[in-house]
Amino acid sequence: MGRIFLQHIGGSRIFTCGNCNIALTNRDELISTRFTGATGRAFLFDRVVNLQYSDVQDREMLTGRHMVRDVSCKFCNSKLGWIYEFATKDDQRYKEGRVILERALVHEVEGMDEPVNHS
Ligand SMILES: [Zn+2]
Repeated sequence: MGRIFLQHIGGSRIFTCGNCNIALTNRDELISTRFTGATGRAFLFDRVVNLQYSDVQDREMLTGRHMVRDVSCKFCNSKLGWIYEFATKDDQRYKEGRVILERALVHEVEGMDEPVNHS
């Protein structure tokens, strides 16, 4: 109750908060790089951790009307992108529950939990 869980996510390529570098998601969760955000290129991910969410907003996009929440870093409050709560068009439904991270607001780094062979 009331605890903030800062989850660790593994993987060989990790996406981190551009401000505080906490891990958010990895390459395995990446669905598409063909999205555009306020700052330019944006990525769609299946699962992202360590986020906090704004209230739901009704937003008209190029692909139709969507209900979204802005997402920001749970640790440092930096804005990172948004999450799709609901899409009105059937062909956009795959985005529901999935998260956009703006490329300019995150870092992509090598994972540090790969086993290192010192033999
Ligand atoms: Zn952060």
